[in-house]
Amino acid sequence: MRSSLRFLIGAAALAGLAAPAAAQQHFDTVGVGDTSIFAPLHLSPGPNAFRLGSGAPGPLYWQNRADYVLTATLDTTTRVLTGTERLTYTNNSPTALPYIWVQVEQDAFRKGSLNSYVYGPNTRFGARGFQGGDVIDRVEQVMPGRKSVPLATRVSETVMRINLAEPLRPGQKVVLDIAWHFPIPEHGADRMGYDGSLFEFGQWYPAVCVYDDVQGWNIEPYLGQGEFYREYGDFSLAVTVPSGYIVAATGTLQNPREVLTPAEIGRLARAAKSDTTVHIVTQAELASGAARPRKGGTQVWRFEAKNVRDVAWATSPEYLWDASSWHGVLAQAYYRPSAVNPWSDAADQARMSILEYSTRWFQYPYPQITVAEGPISGMEYPMLAMEARSRDVYGLYNVITHEIGHNWFPMIVGSNERMHFWQDEGFNTFINTFSEARRYPEQGTEAQRELEERQQVEGVMKAGYDTPIDVGPDRINPFLLGVNQYVKTSMALHLLRHEVLGDSAFDDGFREYIHRWAYKHPTPADFFRTMEDAGGRRLDWFWREFFETNDQFDQTIDTVTTKQVGDTEQVVVAYGNLARGVLPIVARFTFSDGTTQDVDYPAESWYMNSVRFVRQYAFVGKQLVKIQLDPDNRLIDVNRTNNIWLAPQ
Ligand SMILES: [Zn+2]
Repeated sequence: MRSSLRFLIGAAALAGLAAPAAAQQHFDTVGVGDTSIFAPLHLSPGPNAFRLGSGAPGPLYWQNRADYVLTATLDTTTRVLTGTERLTYTNNSPTALPYIWVQVEQDAFRKGSLNSYVYGPNTRFGARGFQGGDVIDRVEQVMPGRKSVPLATRVSETVMRINLAEPLRPGQKVVLDIAWHFPIPEHGADRMGYDGSLFEFGQWYPAVCVYDDVQGWNIEPYLGQGEFYREYGDFSLAVTVPSGYIVAATGTLQNPREVLTPAEIGRLARAAKSDTTVHIVTQAELASGAARPRKGGTQVWRFEAKNVRDVAWATSPEYLWDASSWHGVLAQAYYRPSAVNPWSDAADQARMSILEYSTRWFQYPYPQITVAEGPISGMEYPMLAMEARSRDVYGLYNVITHEIGHNWFPMIVGSNERMHFWQDEGFNTFINTFSEARRYPEQGTEAQRELEERQQVEGVMKAGYDTPIDVGPDRINPFLLGVNQYVKTSMALHLLRHEVLGDSAFDDGFREYIHRWAYKHPTPADFFRTMEDAGGRRLDWFWREFFETNDQFDQTIDTVTTKQVGDTEQVVVAYGNLARGVLPIVARFTFSDGTTQDVDYPAESWYMNSVRFVRQYAFVGKQLVKIQLDPDNRLIDVNRTNNIWLAPQ
């Protein structure tokens, strides 16, 4: 999901907000014996046979699997969606499961829902006066060789418990048939909605919750900001829409000859080998009706997707359609004529995003990537990103490359976003830096973008509205979510990369994390441990000060003494650390002859004494006139006025 105010946060905007939430309790309490910022973190869960101390999946690691056959019928007149689902659920856990839980996310829009208390009615995640909810028409267990059995259910907020006919034993599968329908909200928490004849659908079918070794059933409700945590599986999707509609969806179109014209099929084949954009549906064809020759009735669009966590779709009778490709991956854009400027650039933006993330981090594994224009403003699903009209190509790329980046976090690396938002929004914001600077360096180089992030975080720290990074998303004020989750995580990773680990060690760790946990369910501890294991350095202090607590940072020049001995000036500098957080020391010495010299000490210099670090220097034939800490703003410091020492005149 897009950040609400990535570049808008300022102290003025923060006035009157609620106090920051407390840190999430997945860190055990540190023993009273060692209260140092450098004390070993007691990460939870502790190392075990499912998750190793190295941060890798263990020899007994398991996760369950959910395969879906979904149908959806859109009634554009009554604005009701009717669906059926055949869910094949595989229990790979070591215990029998007497019941399973599935998401009924439209229940977030029922009267009296938790959503209605947590988010204001007119906010991005509020219902805006709409009252709806999932209506479950049928839940049955398919029994081999005999009649299906109706199953008892119970809804708890936005999750529904289904009692199985008999406990699902380890290694066994269960097949369920579910039928449901719901009234379509115009604005469904920015994940579903319509604008005239254009409809977009995310969080729309009863998806099974994750059952894992860490929490058992993950029954966290869908409130709004916390997006999802899903199992991997194969999806078959059949969408029935009026004949004049075009459907964009997760997966590969299975029946092009039934729903596309021969000209469109030919152009798609050309686009699949083209690195420049091909128009699949042109404005002229849309205007003349040639794009959708069949009139009246309905058509079924069929898609299939392998090894994904979710499927979403969008449909409109007004969609233009562009496509190109990169290394066999089709990059597509669907948008209305009213959005041509800047959306005519969208297919190329999608192509470049796939190229950037694949070549730097991990190869994109899916056959296509789609961006769809509509009322939903910045939301991601596997192979499908949604965005509204944008002001210009820069604004559009900012969102498109972000939503596409989510294919890596959390679609490939399947973390739990209802608990640990930063493991996808923050990691994604981090990789976006490279993508944005690559396409539009005139809007900011990597270094300029990273500096802007540090300045935003510093501003929020000074105002006292910073939170630890590892706070659940639905407990953070929406006005602070952008800076404390997206920006602070990205900033911390860039800081770790440049100032602590070094670029190559960081990149080794980050790539190792992606490879180890691709198509799996990592926790924060798995990430922290992997970065140390593959990067080569203990980082308890770093995880603690940024992720577990919201420590501040304030280095100073404590005292400087000088003594002239012959032609040599002997200098003793005591560096001070006035806040709890520790960072490397970066100082610039300026001399009477105008020359400068930089010194750099690692954060571990504060090991013995976390408030004072003393160094001696000898300068031959010149006088020290100035010391400045962090002169190039490479670090975070909430008080820069105490960073300069000037020699007495
Ligand atoms: Zn996002």
